[in-house]
Amino acid sequence: CGVFAVRLPEPADVASLCHLGLFALQHRGQESCGICVSNGEELVIEKDMGLVAEVFTEARLDKLRLPGARVGLGHTRYATTGASLRFNAQPLTVRSNKGILALAHNGNFTNAGRIRREMLEAGAIFNTTNDSEVMLNLIARYSRLSLEDATARVMGELQGGFAVVLMDRDRILGLRDRNGVRPLVIGELGGGYVFASEPSALHVVGATFVRDVRPGELVVADSQGLHSRQVLTPNPTPCAFEWIYFARGDGALDGVDVHAARVRMGEVLAAEAPAEADVVVGVPESGLAAAVGFSRASGIPFDLGLYKSPYAGRTFINPTQRLRELKVRLKLATTSSVAGKRVVLVDDSIVRGTTSGRIVQLLRSAGATEVHFRVSSPPIKYPCYYGIDTAARKELAAATMTLEEIRERIGADSLRFISEGGLARAIGLASTCLACFDGRYHAGHPEDEETLRPV
Ligand code: 5GP
Ligand code: SF4
Ligand code: MG
Repeated sequence: CGVFAVRLPEPADVASLCHLGLFALQHRGQESCGICVSNGEELVIEKDMGLVAEVFTEARLDKLRLPGARVGLGHTRYATTGASLRFNAQPLTVRSNKGILALAHNGNFTNAGRIRREMLEAGAIFNTTNDSEVMLNLIARYSRLSLEDATARVMGELQGGFAVVLMDRDRILGLRDRNGVRPLVIGELGGGYVFASEPSALHVVGATFVRDVRPGELVVADSQGLHSRQVLTPNPTPCAFEWIYFARGDGALDGVDVHAARVRMGEVLAAEAPAEADVVVGVPESGLAAAVGFSRASGIPFDLGLYKSPYAGRTFINPTQRLRELKVRLKLATTSSVAGKRVVLVDDSIVRGTTSGRIVQLLRSAGATEVHFRVSSPPIKYPCYYGIDTAARKELAAATMTLEEIRERIGADSLRFISEGGLARAIGLASTCLACFDGRYHAGHPEDEETLRPV
């Protein structure tokens, strides 16, 4: 998911800023989106299933253009917990002892199922099956604490990987879990502040990058400006998949430039898994940067061997296998540059193997004489419990098949993955989450199966 929040010192068209911010975060979730705006008295919210461009018609944006508005937040969602239904769309809003609150969340709480059950037994009611609602309820429960103190308390009670933005009538809050699994950055705009999942959303609204929210930190933007407290002892293990695939290539997360890291992954891959070939082709868009790196390090020329329809969207975000399969053809075709050539095909990941197999077929039918598949992430063997839908374990190609079986399934002449150490070196941080590759869940296992099953 993608989150965005803004607070300006003077009234402004906050709705349009949120709208732009969500556009730049569309790649983080395409199922639903929403925006919530307040002018200190009223609060309006518009959310629905669909893309930002579909949901936010001019008429709908007009409803959000509250006179005097200074704060707003928004969300783009893809479902990891909670069914893909309208009532699960975010932001979520509640009326509480702290006034009206709105919240948007990226990631998963691994203990939300248990907390939800305990609260239900104690008489609480829930409107959604979304674990974000658990967080809002927990905050409201601390009726004697200020919003900031209650939020800080709740950060310690929730486990998992999450980045959250929260607002009341006149403030915005941004926070990350103690591992900083999901990204959240701070920007400055006209004397006010913006929180966003990625720098792409700061860029689009004209905000200047200030810094990342630190793991375990709670940052508040209010009439006093920006202030922060380190609520939890940080243990940074940000998600490696953000650099491999998920984040947009035009910014840096936790100080590591996303595009440069992808190029380095390709360079490492070329050193670890060389191939005899005539041309390097990347699978657009997410495999291109690693293909550039592979080409640079190997000296094999890079070419655009695959054409990607700019209108097809990201295949993995569609929740059903059938749609994913159909969409591969909708999305990709070959160019003339591969005919009669031995091709190194570089992609960011193999999840189920469906896309990869079809791309190999496409290249062969376009006349490629050999296809050597190189992958800039290690084999994905374990599920993600922290907000990226890397599929159930039984669907993961690398969880159930050997390297040779996967190679055969996708029909490549050779198949190699970057090593875990090579990936870590390419990113260059002291430590990152690699749980979907190595099964080491630094931010905790889900407490029970139910936590991750839609209720
Ligand atoms: P596959 O060959 O596993 O079907 O698809 C691999 C390609 O699709 C990669 O290019 C990757 O970017 C994307 N992809 C497909 N499904 C998923 C998924 O469930 N999670 C992620 N992170 N990427 C996926
Ligand atoms: Fe990212 Fe994988 Fe860790 Fe999930 S398990 S947070 S996808 S590195
Ligand atoms: Mg891809």
